[in-house]
Amino acid sequence: MAGYQKFLHVGLALDPIHVGTGGARLGRVELTIVRDPVTRVPKIPGSSLAGVYRTYVAMEEHEQNPNRQVDGQPRPYYPHCAGLGQPRGNYLGHCAQPDCPVCTVFGFARGRDQAGGFAGLAAFTDAHVLLFPVPTRQGPRWITCPDALRLIGLEVQGVDRDAVYLNSPQNNPLNLGWLLLPIMTCGQFQNIVQSLQNLGVPDYICERLALVPDRLFPHIVNSNLEVRTSVAINPATGAAEEQALFSYEALPRGTVLAWEIIAKNPQHFQIQGQRISAVSSPDDVHTKVQLAHPYLEHLGVGGMGTRGMGRLKVLSDGQSPSTQAVDCGASSTSATGPSSSAPAPPTGGATASPSGTT
Ligand SMILES: [Zn+2]
Repeated sequence: MAGYQKFLHVGLALDPIHVGTGGARLGRVELTIVRDPVTRVPKIPGSSLAGVYRTYVAMEEHEQNPNRQVDGQPRPYYPHCAGLGQPRGNYLGHCAQPDCPVCTVFGFARGRDQAGGFAGLAAFTDAHVLLFPVPTRQGPRWITCPDALRLIGLEVQGVDRDAVYLNSPQNNPLNLGWLLLPIMTCGQFQNIVQSLQNLGVPDYICERLALVPDRLFPHIVNSNLEVRTSVAINPATGAAEEQALFSYEALPRGTVLAWEIIAKNPQHFQIQGQRISAVSSPDDVHTKVQLAHPYLEHLGVGGMGTRGMGRLKVLSDGQSPSTQAVDCGASSTSATGPSSSAPAPPTGGATASPSGTT
């Protein structure tokens, strides 16, 4: 059996999602969201995902087994096996038992006798933006880029113009937010659509896809985030606090995110010299993790949950697909002529000579 298995998860934001940086920065928005340090595209950190998954799996295990005991003492999964794990007051901390589906899958800080902790059998990547909704003159379009499509196993070549690549030709340029871009056609666009449909992305989104180069994607995403303004209410008076107006940004409703969960093989691990009995295979680990998905759809992820934010519907959670190549360069057409960066054919029969033009 493999040492680990990777499971690709694709989810649709049912509300705006705000996963905050926990601090303010100078600028237009006080409460900013977490961004990738290199691309500047907003994301949900894997550590945030692991935290909400842990809480929801503990809730569900508690629902299924409300009278759980350890050594003859009541030890409910929720809240004790959720949370940060350090005992405090009535909170007993992580149970650290080899038969606990929460502590084995998500790890624990340290064992009952202060022995070492356990890293957990499930590892979470960051959730990255796969498709991002942008207003255009023709209604919303969901934009993506080669870097984002790599998350779902697509290696897209030839998207190198400052243009929007679509499935079918179109005469007029298209605005993505404030950015006006010429249209190119990608001959293998249907392969991208097919891959997304296979991952459960709804047809209304697949019919409105637009592909842009990697360098444009962060600009379009960051200039089309949702920004809301709120005011703090004084609990004593019920009126707005003075100087307490604040704004916060969020990924808009309709954003499609992708993340991977790597499930390790429980057979390769022990907890304080004992075999792990809660789960016996990477598939088992993934089955436990999946218990969180109905909760994600109804309770959500990130902050501002009381302001109608954060619900995330999982569209697909199967094994990660293998890599597939998509070439948008060779068959692209545009009003200004063929792409100048199209590679030369690798084996030369009849090679076109540039000096042949008059
Ligand atoms: Zn536990």
